[in-house]
Formats: sequence, structure tokens, C-alpha cells
Amino acid sequence: VKILAIETSCDETSAAVVADGVEVLSNIISSQVDVHRKFGGVVPEVASRKHLELINHVIKEALDQAGLDFGDLDAVAVTHGPGLVGALLVGVAAAKAVAFALDIPLIAVNHLEGHIYANFLVRPGLPFPLICLVVSGGHTDLVLVLHHGDYRLLGSTRDDAAGEAFDKVARVLELGYPGGPAIERLAREGNEEAIDFPRAYLNGLDFSFSGLKTAVLQYLHRCRQRGEEVNLADVAASFQKAVVDVLVDKTVEAARNYNCPTIILAGGVAANGRLRAALASRACQEGREVFYPPPVFCTDNAAMIGCAAYYKYLRGDLAPLTLNAVPGLPLLSS
Ligand code: ATP
Ligand code: MG
Ligand code: FE
Repeated sequence: VKILAIETSCDETSAAVVADGVEVLSNIISSQVDVHRKFGGVVPEVASRKHLELINHVIKEALDQAGLDFGDLDAVAVTHGPGLVGALLVGVAAAKAVAFALDIPLIAVNHLEGHIYANFLVRPGLPFPLICLVVSGGHTDLVLVLHHGDYRLLGSTRDDAAGEAFDKVARVLELGYPGGPAIERLAREGNEEAIDFPRAYLNGLDFSFSGLKTAVLQYLHRCRQRGEEVNLADVAASFQKAVVDVLVDKTVEAARNYNCPTIILAGGVAANGRLRAALASRACQEGREVFYPPPVFCTDNAAMIGCAAYYKYLRGDLAPLTLNAVPGLPLLSS
């Protein structure tokens, strides 16, 4: 089963062809970071226009690289939410046009489900039940995955997402956009024990990162007021450690509570090497296993959407041609 998948929920225009949910025949990702960098973040209206400019070329490139024609496709899949409405609409309209013109099934995929399925793309045999930590630019969710398409939301952030915290702190450290990779790079030269930033341990499995962001800001102000030299690498490393500590503790707690021997990571922040290593070593001490996708499948890409779509296709979970974008789509409604 060859599925053309389209992803335009934020600032990546991406199209992929995935066979049977495992074989990535192509995965074209046209990132708009250079366009948005000068604004220090994604500008929604600019993103929509850019998607519109790029979408047909990216789809053509995905087919070319896969060595296929439109006629070889069995289905077309698209992210219909959550995300920026104007951005989502470009992908949804393109996918509907392909489905209508070729008379093939249309599959609507939740972007977060796509992030989770980046794991099945590379490891289709993962054993259920799983605990998945979804850490991205807009979400920090602990999800119990009982079976394909069967989820329970165990906890989420009450304010900022983990990736959002990375981006905001990077901005005040003047590291540019996107912030996650820049902080990770700088942190390698710093001492993560240098500054004792606060960790918010809320009751249960919810997260909060806005206090940490404020603490970093206040630390910088204080140093500047006193005329003290700030070691930015130490700030980056100590901030990253504070985020990672909470993410690891809560994820392991969830795995314990729900008796899950297997933990998976998903979303852009899952590309973070410090988080991967810390979670793997802690889980290992308890006899649990941690898996994560290669970085290119952690950040936004269409291949993960093609994988999630394959399992929906097998279940006969198809979308009508009246499909619309749903910017606030929750994971559990999909
Ligand atoms: P969502 O998936 O919640 O809709 P999004 O699609 O914008 O949001 P992703 O593309 O999944 O988010 O991830 C982007 C986020 O991941 C950004 O906040 C970015 O800073 C962060 N990120 C990417 N690489 C790293 C890294 N190596 N370390 C930490 N954070 C990272
Ligand atoms: Mg992005
Ligand atoms: Fe994403």
C-alpha cells in the first residue's frame, strides 16, 4: 500500500511516499525557518503563503524521488490538525484535490498521532502498552498507547510546551530561531550544575515550564544589574537540565503507574540528545526500554503522517472529501 502523505501544520511544507507504513520511498521537507528567522518565530500568515507557493513542487518532488506517478498511489493522507489554520488548509486542499482527481481514499491524520507514529515507522513491532512522551513546539503530553489508534492522555502542560520553553529561552539568550538545537549545541560547552533553576513538580503527571522560563530571565537581569559576566553556556546547560529532569521523572513515573516496560519519545524536542540519554539511562535502571526515532522523523515531516495513515487505512478509517482543517484538534478525538 503506497500512501502519499502531506504535512503543512506549521512551518514545514512536507510530502512523503510511504509503503506499508514502514518503507519511506521519499520524505521531502521544505523548511521555512530562513523565512521566519528574521521575525524570531513563525508568522502564521507568512507560513500559509509560503506553503501555497511550495506545496505542488514538494508533492512532485516526493513522487519523483520515489520513482512513482500519481497513478501508482493507493491513498493520500494529510494532517488536518492541530496547527495553524491557514497552514493546515493548504495541505488539506491539496490532499482533497489528489483524492478527488485520482479517486483514491483520503485519510485525515492528527499531527500528534503522526509524531507518535514516527516510532512505528522505524520500529513497526513495538509492544503495547506503551508510554509515549510527546514533546514538541506546542505540546508536552504523556500518552498511554494501548493499541494502534487507542490512546489515554495521562498528563500535559498547564502553560508552555517544552519546545516553546527552549525557543523562548533561546530568544532571550539571543541564540536565534529555532531555539532547541541552538541551546543543545551551546549546552555542550556549559556546566549543567552551574545554576539551580527551579523545577516544577506538579501533582500527578502534568507539567509547567513557564516558571522556569521566567527564572532564566530573572537570572540574566540580576547578573546584568550587578554587572556580572554571564556564562551563556552554563545558562543553556542548566536550563536544559531542568527541563530534562522533570520530563524524565514524570515519564518514568507514568511507566511505573501503568506498568509499561516500553517508553517512546515523540515530537521535535525528542531530537534532544541530553533528553534521549537521560531517559534511556533512568529507564534502564528500572528494567524499562526507551525508543526514539532518528532526529529527522522527530521534527515535523510527512513520513510520520504516512505511517499513522497506513494503520488508519487498515482499519478503514477514511475521511470524506468535505474534510476541513481543525486547528485545535485534540489527540483523543482522532
Ligand atoms: P506541535 O507538534 O506541538 O504542533 P511543532 O510542530 O511546531 O509543534 P515540532 O516541529 O514537533 O513542533 O518541534 C519543534 C520544536 O522542537 C521547537 O520548539 C524546537 O525548538 C524543538 N527542538 C527541535 N530540536 C530540538 C533539540 N535538539 N533540543 C530541544 N528542542 C528541540
Ligand atoms: Mg517547525
Ligand atoms: Fe510537530
